[in-house]
Amino acid sequence: MSITIFSQSLNGEFDIEQFLILKGYTEKVDINIKINKLSKIELSKINQDVLCPICRSQGSIIVKKTKLKQAHFRFSNHKYFCDYNKSILKELKTSRDIDFSKFRGKDRTAQTQIVRKLVAKGVEQGFFSQKDIDEMRIYFYKSKEDSQFLMDVSKTKLDWFFYLKSLNYKHFSFIYNHFKPIYIDLPTFDWNEFAQYIFKKNNEKIIEKTSFLSFINIKVRQQIYEIIKSTENKLVFDVKDLYIPYKNTIELTKIIVSAFSKSDKWVNSDIFLAFSALLLYISEWDVSIAVENFIYILNSPEPIDINEGNVIGLNPFYNFEAWLAISHIREVVKENVDGFDFYKQLETIERELKDKYES
Ligand SMILES: [Zn+2]
Repeated sequence: MSITIFSQSLNGEFDIEQFLILKGYTEKVDINIKINKLSKIELSKINQDVLCPICRSQGSIIVKKTKLKQAHFRFSNHKYFCDYNKSILKELKTSRDIDFSKFRGKDRTAQTQIVRKLVAKGVEQGFFSQKDIDEMRIYFYKSKEDSQFLMDVSKTKLDWFFYLKSLNYKHFSFIYNHFKPIYIDLPTFDWNEFAQYIFKKNNEKIIEKTSFLSFINIKVRQQIYEIIKSTENKLVFDVKDLYIPYKNTIELTKIIVSAFSKSDKWVNSDIFLAFSALLLYISEWDVSIAVENFIYILNSPEPIDINEGNVIGLNPFYNFEAWLAISHIREVVKENVDGFDFYKQLETIERELKDKYES
């Protein structure tokens, strides 16, 4: 369910109540009564006008308010990568809507109060509006559409990549580093260890490249394996062009959070990431401009109307590290010409070493 829609005639994004008011249905009655009063012709006109706020597909129906959900438009034909496409794999969703006035998360009250006020100030001072957020949403969606490929990273390739990555940090004893045949007589001499040392030497250049992404921790690694498993040979996207926006958003979020909290636990919070991404989007992803804008907003007078902060933002980097890692892994994989069965390669090296030195 999308909270908002894009109206072609009004050239902007609105929820259904705002939309109907702006279209002249100003009667102060319950939203369901308002919807019931719409004629077939009016409904058909609305249907022509209203588009999905992300993928811009047409064909919506109005769903009335219930006890659990507010009234909204429902689209039946979202495009493949649209975050509102229900049939899409959850792994392909990389953004999250963030209601700046009703953020749900840990410490939500404190965080919401801070960010909502910043957003209200930013809107009043003319830094950004809902329109910028809509444009940002389209920017991220388009980038997915423009970079699609069939998932070609297999589990075998991943195992190979992570083995190489582990070699990056592996320390080998002096006896392998400065090998002399007599060392074989040491009781601790290990042929497999020696084979790994040679393998590392043979693959030095490519192994160096695996060190590029430092954030691949156990959690991200597990996520990568899950993504690969569920998307193999399916249409996915490459996020490499979003690396700078991502890196800069993390950088800026740290600076913003440090203005309010000594601990950095809010750095991964959706609401701060959403605000930070918005500031960077209007600053063309330039951190120094975004920091200046942040300082200006922070020090500007209290907002006249805090409701200006009732805006639906977007954290565009949800699940992002795993996708960024996959993009990088693909690059490294492409450079390998020796196959991915490293166990077999190690066995061959070990056999050759034994043949050469054991006699
Ligand atoms: Zn859509």
